[in-house]
Amino acid sequence: MKFTKHLLFLFFALLSVSIVSCDREDEDDEYPNDQADQTKSSGLVARYSVSGNTLSLIESGPAASGFYNQTRQNEFWNFFTNLIPSDARQVMKELELFADPDDGTAAYVSPINDNDLSLWIMGHNLDFIWDDNNQFVPGESAYTSIHEIAHLLTLDNNQVNVGNSGCSSFHTGEGCSNTDSYINQFYNQFWADIYGELQSIDQQDFGALFAFYNKYQDRFVTEYAATNPGEDIAESFATYVLADAPSEKDIVNRKMSFFDGFPELVNLKARIKGNINFTISLPGIRGERSKRFMARVGSGI
Ligand SMILES: [Zn+2]
Repeated sequence: MKFTKHLLFLFFALLSVSIVSCDREDEDDEYPNDQADQTKSSGLVARYSVSGNTLSLIESGPAASGFYNQTRQNEFWNFFTNLIPSDARQVMKELELFADPDDGTAAYVSPINDNDLSLWIMGHNLDFIWDDNNQFVPGESAYTSIHEIAHLLTLDNNQVNVGNSGCSSFHTGEGCSNTDSYINQFYNQFWADIYGELQSIDQQDFGALFAFYNKYQDRFVTEYAATNPGEDIAESFATYVLADAPSEKDIVNRKMSFFDGFPELVNLKARIKGNINFTISLPGIRGERSKRFMARVGSGI
C-alpha cells in the first residue's frame, strides 16, 4: 500500500515536471517562430468552439503555420473580445479563421444549423486583419467585427423565427422576423418602398446592385449597405457606433436615430466605444470597402 502511494507520488511528481517543462518549451518557441516564419498561406487557419471568451480548437487548417500562427490567432481573439462585450455575442458558438487575399469577404456569420437561430458561427478572413506589410489593422477590423455582431443581434432566435409559412413581416432569408424586431422595424421605415425593386435584381450581379445603390445613394452609408436590408442594418449599426459627426445625408441620420430608439443599443454603443483605444478613420474604412465593392462590380461577380 505504502509502496503504491510512493509510486503514485513519483508518477505525479514526474507528470508535473513534464507539464512545467512543456509549458516552458512552448513559451520559448513561440516568439522565435513568430518572427522567423512570415509566410502567409491561404485556406483554413482554424475552427474553434466558443464559450464566452474561451476558445477550444475543433480543427486546425493548412494556413495555421507561418504568419497566422497561434500567437496571431490569439492576438485577433483578444482584440475581438476586448472590443465586443460578451453579452452581445452570446449566440456566437463557433469561430472560423481563414486566410484568402483574393476573397472579397472580410467576415461572415451563418447559423450552425439552419433550423436553430440560437447557434451561430462567425468567420474572419485574417488577410483583412493584417495588411500587406504584416501590420495589424485595428480600425477596419473593429468596423467589420461590429458589422458582424449587428447581424447576430438582428438575426438571432430572439428576433427571427425559422420558417416561411404565413410570414407577413420582413423575411430575412433565415426566417420570418418578429413584428417588433429591429430588422422588421428598420425594413418598414427604410426599405418598404424600394425592396420590390431590389428583389428584381440578381444578387450576384454587382453591376446591377451598384446601379441600384447609385439610384438611392442618399439613403445608404456604403455601397454594400444597398445590397439588402440585412447588410444595410449591419453597415448602419457599425457607422452608428463609430461615427463622431452627423452625416450630410438626412436619411442616414434618421437611420442613426433609429438605433437611438433602443436603450440597449445605445448602451452597447457606449460600451464598445469605451473599449476603443486606437484611432479610427470612418471615411478611410468606407473608402476601403468601396474599393472592394467596386472590384466586384468590375469583375462582374
Ligand atoms: Zn454582413
